[in-house]
Amino acid sequence: MRLGDSRSPPSGLAPKRRESASPTRGEATGVCGTTEPTICDPDPALLLAWYDRHRRKLPWRARGSERADPYRVWLSEIMLQQTRVNAVLPYYAKFLARWPSVGALAAAPLEEVLKVWAGLGYYARARNLHACARALIERHGGEFPHEESELQTLPGIGAYTAAAIAAIAFGRRATPVDGNVERVIARLFRVETRLPAAKDEIRRLARTLTPDIRPGDFAQAMMDLGATICTPVSPGCALCPWMADCGARAAGDPQDFPRREAKRVTKLRRGAAFFVLRPDRGILVRARPARGLLGGMTELPTTEWSEDFEESRALLEAPLSSSRKCWRRVPGLVMHVFTHFPLELVVYATQVRLDTPPPPGMRFVPLDRLHEEALPNVMRKVVALAARELGNAALSASPSRRAALRARRRSE
Ligand code: SF4
Repeated sequence: MRLGDSRSPPSGLAPKRRESASPTRGEATGVCGTTEPTICDPDPALLLAWYDRHRRKLPWRARGSERADPYRVWLSEIMLQQTRVNAVLPYYAKFLARWPSVGALAAAPLEEVLKVWAGLGYYARARNLHACARALIERHGGEFPHEESELQTLPGIGAYTAAAIAAIAFGRRATPVDGNVERVIARLFRVETRLPAAKDEIRRLARTLTPDIRPGDFAQAMMDLGATICTPVSPGCALCPWMADCGARAAGDPQDFPRREAKRVTKLRRGAAFFVLRPDRGILVRARPARGLLGGMTELPTTEWSEDFEESRALLEAPLSSSRKCWRRVPGLVMHVFTHFPLELVVYATQVRLDTPPPPGMRFVPLDRLHEEALPNVMRKVVALAARELGNAALSASPSRRAALRARRRSE
């Protein structure tokens, strides 16, 4: 049965205990609840019935008897990694309008894809999206393979995404386990092992629940349950279709699951960014190296980002060294958190003459066209901080005008 059949009743799955579903479930956690030796046995049919009534209406989901489009499923799953649905919606619409098929996306230049992706974060996803579209054209004639193992050979498609595409688009009995599903499973079975070590155990338990029919709907139902009912804080257990079978609810401690290892403390990195403005409102930018963090994205020139950054030496790395005396420290700081470290940037701004050539590897971009660049969020913050300062007369005056003002004051 396909995803598009989600309106159909979950025939073949009567809403009652399945005898042979998961003989090892109780072993995983010992018991369901704290004292009673009851094996948890959440019934997939109850969840599917709940999904048929309460599923989220999302633009990438098939409606009525439609078949799920693997391209849309893939695009949405890549965008949703580490990103909230509301943030994804406008990007998904933009991508689909511009590149409605794998072929269209594969034919686009990577720079264009990065530009449209700019602001969504985790930019390796955009590069992989583009590489995957090209691999699909070259190796699979533009069609998605149906099996998880084949899907996982494509750029940017890991175990989770492969399982999501296989289940949702092709009706395979696959079990995508994301953060929402991890939380639901950890609570249902009161998984005592801490994440990330618990991942394998949670995946195994999740697989025991996946039914043979409607696996795509089941996968999406698990995602919806985690996103709307079994939320990280204050889960709505009274509304949950698995309320009666949930170990954590029985024990009264859902919020204690999933158990997690204490987070490693990541060290703050610091640096300086340089905002160079021409009288025609051109801003100096450059491209980051193709590989590594924010690879290929546009940025304002910066110093290195390091734990031992010394602000007193920041201007030694400024572009356009001849204008060093004209730099002005913009009040405030830019704070940004990457996956592996937090970053703090100070911003220096200056205005240069119209005929100032850009240093090698850099270029001027009109301020009002900066939104067309693949500008990552951290650089948007830098521009916003400096642009606030643009309202300040001291910055908006050119160096020569400031000199004229000083000369006039001296003569008064
Ligand atoms: S009963 Fe509560 S804790 Fe258990 S799965 Fe449902 S919402 Fe989550």
